Amino acid sequence: MSRPQAKGITRDERQLELFVRTSDLVDVRSKEYRDYMRSAEWFRLRDVVLARDGYRCRWDMMVKGETCLMVDLPLEVHHFCYRQPLAAALTADLVTLCPPHHITADEMRRSYIKTTAVRTFARKKHGEFWSDRYDLNEMEDEFDFWLQTTRNRRAR
Ligand SMILES: [Zn+2]
Repeated sequence: MSRPQAKGITRDERQLELFVRTSDLVDVRSKEYRDYMRSAEWFRLRDVVLARDGYRCRWDMMVKGETCLMVDLPLEVHHFCYRQPLAAALTADLVTLCPPHHITADEMRRSYIKTTAVRTFARKKHGEFWSDRYDLNEMEDEFDFWLQTTRNRRAR
């Protein structure tokens, strides 16, 4: 059977959905991600970032005025954003963090991307001045509902 429901989905909506889907960003269990994390390119890039950041948690690059006080923790390299393909990552996309700050940074990225998507959705649906009539929480509910129904329609 054909999929007439796809007609109702504009290119903008597709981009928006893609935007959100990639906000949980990559599936860390996927083969692509695991291969990337094991690649020589990633290790090279990671070393460059660790050296650039002086082998310490650069939480101050995430939140102005805050410095990481934790010592002797292993260091991890956080993606501000992911590119497609993953191997296209640049040093500007990355920052060295300690594990606790890395967790917080991942939450910040998710929340930032979600908020950006909700704002885009609200603007498309209710126009440039949507915030005069609706607040962000209302829009987030509407957005989640839209996303869910879009996904259900497509899953059929
Ligand atoms: Zn830290």
